[in-house]
Amino acid sequence: MTSILPRRHQIGLPLDQLILSDPPGAEALEMDVLFVGAGPAGLAGAIELARLLKQDQEAGGSLGDLSIGVLEKAGSLGEHCLSGAVINPRAFRELFPGMPDSTFPFRQAVTAEAVYFLREHGSFRLPTPPTMHNQGFYTASLCEVVRWLGEQAEALGVNLFPGFPADALLVEGNAVRGVRTTPSGLNRERAPTDAYQEPTDITARVTVLTEGTRGTLGQAWREWQQVASPNPQIFALGVKEVWQVKRPLDRVIHTLGWPLPNDAFGGTWMYPLGPELVSLGLVVGLDYRQAALDAHTLLQRLKLHPLVRPYLEGGELLEWGAKTIPEGGYYALPARRSGAGLLMAGDTVGFVDVPSLKGIHYAMQSSMFAARAAFQALKAGDPSAEALAAYDVMINESYIVRDMHRTRNMRLAFKDGLWRGGIKAGLMTLTGGRFPGGRIAMHADADQPRTLPPEETAPAFVPDGRLTFSKVDAVFKSGNATRDTIPTHLLAPSDIPGDVADFYAHVCPAGVYERTPEGLRINAPNCVDCKATDVLGPRWTPREGGSGPKYRTM
Ligand SMILES: Cc1cc2nc3c(=O)[nH]c(=O)nc-3n(C[C@H](O)[C@H](O)[C@H](O)COP(=O)(O)OP(=O)(O)OC[C@H]3O[C@@H](n4cnc5c(N)ncnc54)[C@H](O)[C@@H]3O)c2cc1C
Ligand code: SF4
Repeated sequence: MTSILPRRHQIGLPLDQLILSDPPGAEALEMDVLFVGAGPAGLAGAIELARLLKQDQEAGGSLGDLSIGVLEKAGSLGEHCLSGAVINPRAFRELFPGMPDSTFPFRQAVTAEAVYFLREHGSFRLPTPPTMHNQGFYTASLCEVVRWLGEQAEALGVNLFPGFPADALLVEGNAVRGVRTTPSGLNRERAPTDAYQEPTDITARVTVLTEGTRGTLGQAWREWQQVASPNPQIFALGVKEVWQVKRPLDRVIHTLGWPLPNDAFGGTWMYPLGPELVSLGLVVGLDYRQAALDAHTLLQRLKLHPLVRPYLEGGELLEWGAKTIPEGGYYALPARRSGAGLLMAGDTVGFVDVPSLKGIHYAMQSSMFAARAAFQALKAGDPSAEALAAYDVMINESYIVRDMHRTRNMRLAFKDGLWRGGIKAGLMTLTGGRFPGGRIAMHADADQPRTLPPEETAPAFVPDGRLTFSKVDAVFKSGNATRDTIPTHLLAPSDIPGDVADFYAHVCPAGVYERTPEGLRINAPNCVDCKATDVLGPRWTPREGGSGPKYRTM
């Protein structure tokens, strides 16, 4: 065997577990609107809806008190949130009119920026492409942003439920009626322990899926409702570290080239988060060709580069984490993001503009539109598919779709490698997206064959424990302390060949997979919910609340 095709070893979505037509239990909690996922999307939508309700009440409107809930799988808000991040404040300004930017939970304004092309031992500066200009924007930690949004939501009476992952959609006919949460306190064999807590059913007149990248319920709903898109969604994996540094970083830095191979799409970033903190990371498209590519190791190598190392020397790694990014752009957007009793917003839909690496303000803005559509539908007493379709109209007429249309083929051009992609992307920028005309067709990441390494490979990278770290150290730095006895939430067939097990071991930045003489070993508690193997290998499913990483500044 010289190559492997990930799709051949991946099981389908377990729709029978994710879409349940059982009636809600007698103890079901009743909500009017339920957001699933407390990221920037879920919280911005809940805040917008609470504000609309308040205005309605003050104007003597008919809606009265509505209950708004936000479910979150992390034990505390923000612990599962990770981003770069440079934030475009546009959605903040709209959500909090009258509040100056200085009140938002940003770290610092972007005052200078540079783009470099890296070779292993050197670099040269490139002109900053128009799509990558960040003047007027702010660096931030998404964890901090989310904690702050949570405080604003609570102050407006929104019910936040951290530690409650949604496990399945409750449906009746074609309509979504709410969710069932995961049980907790199961042992490895899925038998209840003394700590067992059964699932809770939460019903809602409108359920808004804001579960982020590669959302499991969003995937299930689309498959169940057969909602297509011109291209399949594709993803990148981002691995990130936060460092306490002695030498302040004075600008936003992006790089292309090394340590990524030429046939992989991606790059790296360094953002200042104040004088002492630096956010550093690497992103790679999951359609890369070489089975042995390992994003975690590439990030470790990057830190030894002469452009990066001087900032980190004498500093300390504070946190590590990983997450995928939906990269398919305009042509991967689902034909509709609404249905009876259901709306979807943020990354679970794919509202990310890849050339500018921006998703936060699109996530917030899309969910604010979802809140407006839900509000109108409830005011009319009609959360039907037809009424909620007003959301799709708002999205289609918004700057979200306009921005994504302008860069519609840019990421897709790179499927032929860095050089050809770079030239095409330049022409697309010059023509406002009109070159080359039409859509560049794309296949799903799992359908990209991976070339196996030759028998004799280069020696494995050995971390020094000072600047560079192993995956075990990295998981420790993610704060992950999931109990060892948790049942696995990663679904794989039992007959995974050795080469494929090796491939999974490289894909997973958290060291969850190991090749053993018996086959594939899955160390499920290590998982940091980045979802990369849901894209390329074992399926990720929701697990006990509070499991996974405990990010603080990611
Ligand atoms: C490495 C990286 C760098 C990035 N850099 C930038 C940047 O610089 N600027 C920018 O604008 N954007 C950036 N993005 C994109 C941006 O972070 C996302 O677009 C944005 O976070 C999406 O917001 P969201 O609310 O849709 O999803 P998320 O932020 O992922 O939040 C989803 C929430 O839902 C929760 N959840 C998931 N499933 C369930 C469930 N079943 N039940 C309950 N809760 C659930 C999750 O735990 C999470 O808290 C970056 C992304 C990555 C990964
Ligand atoms: S097992 Fe978890 S941490 Fe590893 S790639 Fe899959 S989702 Fe990410």
